[in-house]
Amino acid sequence: MSKTYNIAVLKGDGIGPEVTDATIKVLEAVQGTSNLKLNFLYGEAGYQCIAEHGTNLPEETIALLKQTDACLKGPMTTPETPGAPVSAAVKIRKTFNLYANVRPCRSFPNVEALKPNIDLVVVRENTEGMYSGVEYEVAPGVGVALRIITKEASLRVAEFAFKLAAKRKKHLTYVHKGNILRITDGIFKDAVKAVAPKYPDVAIDDVHIDAMTMHLIKKPESFDVIVTTNLFGDVISDEAAQVTGSLGLAAGANIGDAYGMFEPVHGSAPKYTGQNRVNPIATIMAGFMMLDYLGEKKAAAKIEKAVMNVLREGKVRTADLGGSSTTSEMSDAIASKVKSL
Ligand code: NAD
Repeated sequence: MSKTYNIAVLKGDGIGPEVTDATIKVLEAVQGTSNLKLNFLYGEAGYQCIAEHGTNLPEETIALLKQTDACLKGPMTTPETPGAPVSAAVKIRKTFNLYANVRPCRSFPNVEALKPNIDLVVVRENTEGMYSGVEYEVAPGVGVALRIITKEASLRVAEFAFKLAAKRKKHLTYVHKGNILRITDGIFKDAVKAVAPKYPDVAIDDVHIDAMTMHLIKKPESFDVIVTTNLFGDVISDEAAQVTGSLGLAAGANIGDAYGMFEPVHGSAPKYTGQNRVNPIATIMAGFMMLDYLGEKKAAAKIEKAVMNVLREGKVRTADLGGSSTTSEMSDAIASKVKSL
């Protein structure tokens, strides 16, 4: 019996519409070859809707998301002026309590990477830390940002990361700066250690964030699951993505107990808007993670296999991979590969 899912689609800004359309094309190809119905519901969000709605995440869009099983989100441009609406991604993560940001980084076939055999996942706490959005100018020229770290949120993300590590290579690395941030990262470290006894088969170690940026370049193949706080996780997942070849390949899942939002790790890359030039694979792999989250393992596996096969063949390569193929040539190649599986 075929199963129907309602999927909210937020195309985003800059290159967002291009990479999202490319992903819809691939999802439609999967739908055509599987016992699966995806009902795409398009919503407004992002920088382009601030002028009309005064916000980058209108109430109607939140209501739309609430009616759906998952959200596919393109990257959005975030204004940087004080007082402007905060990042729509951050708002969605907080509104739906999507506390674990899961960012896999692995070697892809035929893609030049810094080191071979990388297969790690960054699990980033997604609801607090430096992204709490509490900032003050306490005196002219003196700013303060609150880095809120709670035991509750740290335990929750630690549990998620242990569960994931238990299903993988059973190695969890927790990353912090406890030598300087003794209270906040002390709470985070204690939470990881408190969850550890429930997972005796998972080996744990810890690394300071500054050393981690070095280890990710020197020995990325030695990591399995990495769990860390919000900003540290954002930084090292971009780094790990580039170590495996390109930010244009890295997808992320934002997972809570009742909802999931799926997006590329990269941003809206405004300078490439409308050029049909960027790599859509990061967003297509977000589509793969979404189907996997929905329990549609076979359909998800088709996307993954199609992406790997297209990369392995090497005939279609976007500029970030050293080629000259367009965004649509890449998505057409992946969609037609899906149909042939
Ligand atoms: P960015 O990720 O948009 O771009 C950085 C560089 O990465 C690009 O110039 C490009 O060289 C490369 N790149 C990114 N995506 C690529 C792709 N698909 N294919 C090939 N190369 C790619 O980062 P930025 O310039 O710091 O941010 C631009 C905007 O995006 C900002 O407004 C930022 O706030 C926003 N942003 C949004 C999200 C999100 O929606 N979740 C995430 C990160 C940044």
